[in-house]
Amino acid sequence: MVIKPKVRGFICTNAHPVGCAKNVSEQIEYVQKQNLSSTDAPKNVLVLGCSTGYGLASRITASFGYGAKTLGVCFEKAPTERKTGTAGWYNTAAFHAEAKAAGIEAHTLNGDAFSNDMKAQVIAKLKETMGKVDLVVYSLASPRRTDPVTGEVYKSTLKPVGQAYTTKTYDTDKDLIHDVSLEPASQEEIDNTIKVMGGEDWELWIKALAEADLLADGAKTTAYTYIGKKLTWPIYGAATIGKAKEDLDRAATTINTDFSALNIDAHVSSLKALVTQASSAIPVMPLYISLIYKVMKEEGTHEGCIEQIVGLFDECLLNNDAATDETNRFRMDGKETNDATQAKIEALWGQVTQANFHDLSDYAGYNADFLNLFGFGFTGVDYEADVDPMADWV
Ligand code: NAD
Repeated sequence: MVIKPKVRGFICTNAHPVGCAKNVSEQIEYVQKQNLSSTDAPKNVLVLGCSTGYGLASRITASFGYGAKTLGVCFEKAPTERKTGTAGWYNTAAFHAEAKAAGIEAHTLNGDAFSNDMKAQVIAKLKETMGKVDLVVYSLASPRRTDPVTGEVYKSTLKPVGQAYTTKTYDTDKDLIHDVSLEPASQEEIDNTIKVMGGEDWELWIKALAEADLLADGAKTTAYTYIGKKLTWPIYGAATIGKAKEDLDRAATTINTDFSALNIDAHVSSLKALVTQASSAIPVMPLYISLIYKVMKEEGTHEGCIEQIVGLFDECLLNNDAATDETNRFRMDGKETNDATQAKIEALWGQVTQANFHDLSDYAGYNADFLNLFGFGFTGVDYEADVDPMADWV
């Protein structure tokens, strides 16, 4: 079939297998050029949320930067003869093909990482193959979670906490800058968001691995967060999702305490705002990211997922002298959140209107990255060609 992007609102409902493979190979190439090495390099890595965004970049960095074996968990849809698979499906197929060609061991399990069943499958797979893991990356982003004990389904919400908030946003579908008013979340909505995106499931993973004797002594683990600054605080940092992210800080402390006998080293890592499937669903983010792209590209500080994650591994995760913030977090977001850069973004934010949006922002860059997520817009890929949507990983 000939595959053209089918964009619906903030999501693209199809994906291009050849373009997704290009996305993966470009990230691999970037990692290989860095000549990474560490005396503390991970050997066996579990990546939860391994198929897109920051989790995919983590898997690629571990494998192609340090030669680690990986077991990845994701939640992706397989293709059929008539419908393409999800981008994460094709990314994973491409990752496996590249890893196999390079002689790097890789396994992937597709299913609900929040479930007890997936934890059991991972434990069985690790016992059968890689053995104990020395790094666990927690990079799940999901709008809902089924509690593994009660079966109750919790949904996350993206709402301010305490008071209503009105701000500018950009509707990518209608090419329209407009105001958006968000009512404050109820306590139940806050609690449900914490249940989905907070630290409970991260803790359950570490507990399950420890009980199965699958955590190496001194194993590291990290979960990803976004902190942001003034412009995004009312809808992110101080909002429902920010409350869930605060719960990750609590979970990191609990993991470090509860598994101190194993010398587990748990940190939350704060990364910069980037276009991913998760972030494009958040109100305000398309506008904010289009503006930071403009400012950071002009400053020469723009980075994508792979640059951020290579930096995180090299400077923080595998560096025993790495600095942490007051909450024991690794910070890779400084190039975005420093006062000088934020001042430039705030100035643009104040000026942006429907008429000048495309001049003041780098929406073109945002949109190109958005299409890239689904394998579209890569040079060297023939988008007129008939391609087979079927692809699998081995
Ligand atoms: P993403 O949507 O690209 O990736 C999410 C991953 O989770 C995918 O691999 C998906 O298959 C997997 N997944 C989702 N639900 C699952 C389930 N039930 N079971 C198994 N796998 C499941 O998202 P992302 O932006 O890379 O986000 C990853 C983490 O990074 C999140 O914690 C997010 O908050 C954080 N983060 C994102 C940004 C950003 O700007 N995108 C910035 C800082 C931190």
